[in-house]
Amino acid sequence: MKDKFKEYASRMTAPREAILEFMSRSSTHLSAKEIYTSLHKKHPGIGMSTVYRTLDLLARMGLVTKLALGDGQNRYEFKAKDKSDHHHHLICTRCGTIINYSEFLEEELTLVRKTEKKLAKKYNFIIEDHNIEFLGICEKCKGSEKI
Ligand SMILES: [Zn+2]
Ligand SMILES: [Zn+2]
Ligand SMILES: [Zn+2]
Repeated sequence: MKDKFKEYASRMTAPREAILEFMSRSSTHLSAKEIYTSLHKKHPGIGMSTVYRTLDLLARMGLVTKLALGDGQNRYEFKAKDKSDHHHHLICTRCGTIINYSEFLEEELTLVRKTEKKLAKKYNFIIEDHNIEFLGICEKCKGSEKI
């Protein structure tokens, strides 16, 4: 995290730093609105559009993971530098529940490794990271649909 902070220090304005700092302290998947509400009291200068723009920028920088919930609502998650924090997501498109999992299936790991290797070769591209999310219907929503 520290080097990334340094690397982007020149591009770090006060709102960007405040948003990133806030996210690094929260472990959940936050909506732009939640981030805005939490920050606004302490930083009245940060408006909703700043939050949106900043989150997009941070996502492009790889400091934040952007999760598309399918209803046009995004959730944002701070990306820890620590690789042990790496996880994939199952996202319910009905209620917005997000399940983190890091107990990867053997098949999944093999597929990801193989895919990354082949893509890197095909596009002469250095793959540093990936985001994997599956969209669908959670157990709770599946249950209520049967009734
Ligand atoms: Zn992964
Ligand atoms: Zn659900
Ligand atoms: Zn997550």
